[in-house]
Amino acid sequence: DSIANQIAAGEVVQRPASAVKELMENSIDAGGKNIRLIVKDAGKTLLQVIDDGMGMSPTDARMSLERHATSKIRKAEDLFELYTMGFRGEALASIAAVAQMELRTRKESDELGTCIVVEGSDIKRQEPVACDKGTSISVKNLFFNIPARRNFLKSNPVELKHIIDEFQRLSLAHPDLSFSMVQGDELVYDLPEGKLSQRIINLFGKAYQEQLAACQEETNMIKVTGYVGKPDFARKTRGEQFLFVNKRFIRSNYLHHAIMSAYEGLLPENSFPFYVLFIDIDPKHIDVNVHPTKTEIKFDDERAVYAVVRSAARQAIGSHNL
Ligand code: ADP
Ligand code: MG
Repeated sequence: DSIANQIAAGEVVQRPASAVKELMENSIDAGGKNIRLIVKDAGKTLLQVIDDGMGMSPTDARMSLERHATSKIRKAEDLFELYTMGFRGEALASIAAVAQMELRTRKESDELGTCIVVEGSDIKRQEPVACDKGTSISVKNLFFNIPARRNFLKSNPVELKHIIDEFQRLSLAHPDLSFSMVQGDELVYDLPEGKLSQRIINLFGKAYQEQLAACQEETNMIKVTGYVGKPDFARKTRGEQFLFVNKRFIRSNYLHHAIMSAYEGLLPENSFPFYVLFIDIDPKHIDVNVHPTKTEIKFDDERAVYAVVRSAARQAIGSHNL
């Protein structure tokens, strides 16, 4: 079974950043309002996510480490959720299979919390512990028991970049929550809850303040909101383009093109606009027949989505060019 766990784990946890994503999503799902990420050695020796969410009872905490243990209800119409998050109830079990994990958690109504130490799927001990309400999960020495995987990890700057990408995506999707990130001894991000525009400024810098054009476009099928950068705020590299569908970050060359085309002729050669766009759409209009770990989706009516996204960006840019 621990072999099965290790194999499945390889699907879910490809690198420290994938564990960060799973842990932070769990904290968001648990209703955490303050979520802190601590990283050492680009997550190779330690990553820890601390939240002030609903916590778990000692029994639930033990259960959460079992494969296919999920407390989250599956609604048929929740398919998009199901597929993009993929591997329901496998994240904690998978991470525990390939790391040394310490889980501390307490429900508000419990006086004492519980602490579980697990190493490569073996539960070493569980004991009562005094701790804050919420959950703290530390993942130490990821892939300690799979040397091939560990060796496959990239340099610290590369792995850290992946972690920051996940952190930025999740914190952009949830400006109503406060997030922080500590790397070594350094507070890399400290993001109080607030508006999306403030979140963007806190993540990327003051320079963005004057450069955001608000988008707002709605049809009976979809709603597009968020910000696009003004044309003269062109970026030299890709990487500052964020597209979310129902609050999940996705990649879409097709919709990227829709946004690019809204700038027709306004951008210098070889540059890209900044954007953080949210598409809200009824999940029944999305084709979920894609690989669960991929951040890609298909729309039933791709062209209609393209048109609305383009028009939303176009209007935002236009109104700022007047
Ligand atoms: P899933 O998120 O798909 O349910 P996971 O393996 O990520 O599967 O988590 C298993 C279960 O552990 C969750 O369904 C939830 O009940 C519990 N859990 C995990 N992380 C937290 C957390 N930070 N706070 C409260 N409960 C959590
Ligand atoms: Mg999860």
